Amino acid sequence: MKPRSVRPIHQIPPEVCRNLAVFFMDIDDTFTTDGRITAAAFQSLWKLYDAGIGVVPVTGRPAGWCDMIARFWPVEAVIGENGAFCFSYDYQKKTMIRQFYQSDSDRIHGANLLKQLERRVLRDVPGCAISADQSFRIADLAIDFCEDVPALPDESIRKICSIARNLDLNCKVSSIHVNCWYGSHDKNESLEKYLFSKYSLPMASIQPQILFIGDSPNDEPLFAAVDNSVAVSNIHRFLDTMTHWPAYMTQKRSGDGFCELVNRILKHRS
Ligand SMILES: [Mg+2]
Repeated sequence: MKPRSVRPIHQIPPEVCRNLAVFFMDIDDTFTTDGRITAAAFQSLWKLYDAGIGVVPVTGRPAGWCDMIARFWPVEAVIGENGAFCFSYDYQKKTMIRQFYQSDSDRIHGANLLKQLERRVLRDVPGCAISADQSFRIADLAIDFCEDVPALPDESIRKICSIARNLDLNCKVSSIHVNCWYGSHDKNESLEKYLFSKYSLPMASIQPQILFIGDSPNDEPLFAAVDNSVAVSNIHRFLDTMTHWPAYMTQKRSGDGFCELVNRILKHRS
């Protein structure tokens, strides 16, 4: 386990910035600010692309959104629904490549459990709602506690997680949703599979050339697994509840923190 201390991003070694090959990023409240993408944050994505760094969002957001992101944003691939799949778009062949990390039988079994979860959560946790983007999901159920509903107390979030675990489902808390799914996949496992399929290298071999930036407890598997892990400063409110902390933290929050990190990296490559 990494030490429970977080360093400022100016301590990221210059050689890490110079040799960076893949920039993994969370989206909500890391790249977005108060629910929107700022012009500066989106421009930072293009700066990474122009610098030859492969950008891969790793998000709890649904398949339908990831399909659009893979096609339209300047990214190399997208890992969605907390590691359920990876989508990438081949511009030469004009083909979307959709790789799923869950077997069909697991997906069908999981769908039945998620239906039960939906009924129980809506009955037993007042104020929560099924997320507005649920229609576009394939593998998970996202329960909204803060995006389109008034923010619920931590006790309600814990109750949602408890109901999910009692049904043998996994769950992760983002800054807005509790994402629940069946099966062992998570963001970390899917990131490793992506690196292996792209570079034919195990994670340990390419570790010095990758970085991840996130903002909340559902990013913990990647804070634990990626040596060069960074959080935007709004992670502060979650740190006490987290086992695995990021190695570095920006001074600014959300999209401004994202831009701060990108500028820091690119400063060492110019
Ligand atoms: Mg987030």
